[in-house]
Amino acid sequence: MPQLALKIDVDTYRGTREGVPRLVETLKRHDVQATFFFSLGPDHTGRAIRRVFRPGFLGKVSRTSVLEHYGLKTLLYGTVLPGPDIGRSCAQILRSVRDVGFEVGIHCYDHIRWQDYVAGKDANWTRREMQRAVDRFIEIFGVAPKALLPPVGR
Ligand SMILES: [Zn+2]
Repeated sequence: MPQLALKIDVDTYRGTREGVPRLVETLKRHDVQATFFFSLGPDHTGRAIRRVFRPGFLGKVSRTSVLEHYGLKTLLYGTVLPGPDIGRSCAQILRSVRDVGFEVGIHCYDHIRWQDYVAGKDANWTRREMQRAVDRFIEIFGVAPKALLPPVGR
């Protein structure tokens, strides 16, 4: 019988609060197993606005509706609105995912920071960012992480 592995990476505060509980419910209903990888620090999605000034971005925006996909509030996090701390304010949701039987792991600490800088920074920077995620994971789950799926850098 063929086997599928589902990996779900959760990028935003809204995705954690609204998307994760619905996904958990749907997966449970169909008796499907999955691993959730969480963004554990601040949601700075709005800072992706910097990418508007990069070549190729506008073409991409016109093809996909960014506003519809993320919602206005998410696009303002880290710019005009402070970025909500996902790990701190959604700890209960994150633990509940594990408690109903899904594997949980680290996606990152700050998704936007990671994506924007990981390719250009040194090993110390990467270690610090990853340590923040590990420390936060332990704070939330009380155990060390066993799974990691970092975002791809730009
Ligand atoms: Zn991601």
